[in-house]
Amino acid sequence: MLEHKVFGGTKIENFGGIKMKNTKIRLRNYIIVALVVLLPILFIFYSPVVMAWGIINGIITASVFVFGAWFILSLFMGRSVSCGYTCPYGALQEILNRYIMKKKPKSERADKIRYFIFVLFLLMVTYFVLKSGGLRGINLFASSSQLVILISAFIITIGLFSIVFGSRAFCRYLCPQGVFLTIGTKIGRKIKIPSLHLKSVQDNCSDCKLCDKSCPMGLNVSYMVSNGTMENLNCILCGECIDKCPKEAINYSFIKD
Ligand code: SF4
Ligand code: SF4
Repeated sequence: MLEHKVFGGTKIENFGGIKMKNTKIRLRNYIIVALVVLLPILFIFYSPVVMAWGIINGIITASVFVFGAWFILSLFMGRSVSCGYTCPYGALQEILNRYIMKKKPKSERADKIRYFIFVLFLLMVTYFVLKSGGLRGINLFASSSQLVILISAFIITIGLFSIVFGSRAFCRYLCPQGVFLTIGTKIGRKIKIPSLHLKSVQDNCSDCKLCDKSCPMGLNVSYMVSNGTMENLNCILCGECIDKCPKEAINYSFIKD
């Protein structure tokens, strides 16, 4: 049941559980800047390159644990905790596009590439784990000059890719981890545990399209609102559309109608 409240003349919806003030969501701007600034440290603890390097060498790196935690959280938080609020590589792409190119990824056909990469990634993991006779040890602080070069190349590549193809284009078109986390989100929905999702009030929407402009994943949010279909495999639950909507037509909720 939705509650209607009036704050300073503005109607605000309480979406059956979570009423989040926009100012809180603006904290995300500081978070993504901090993630990029801390990238030279964070890559040791989370990097798909370090994870792949570890698997090839039969070693479990910190990235595997971070990724495992993200997957578990995706069951009830969707991709918000991982892609939306803690991935430094997503944050880097978002900042580059927010301040340099201001371009959105739009190709829905290219979305399918990441599923292909996901399958390749699974095959690669299986091959190298079998080849090295299983994972033999743990190294939580894996770092070497070779890894620094590989990660620098990876960061430059995803940065350029997002500048050319749009904000978070790497997340949308290429990231295999995003597919894993989408699967986690789907499992959470399937087993019907309370999980974070977007909710909309169509009647509030004035079709100003500010939500479309704010979405770092390039989603057609106003269309989602007008159709009442807020579920989207590419949504990272970042809350930018909630923050920008002047009519309070979108909000977070844990409760499914
Ligand atoms: S639809 Fe909203 S919450 Fe989802 S990715 Fe776009 S801006 Fe973020
Ligand atoms: S920003 Fe809000 S009012 Fe504007 S189109 Fe999006 S949902 Fe509708």
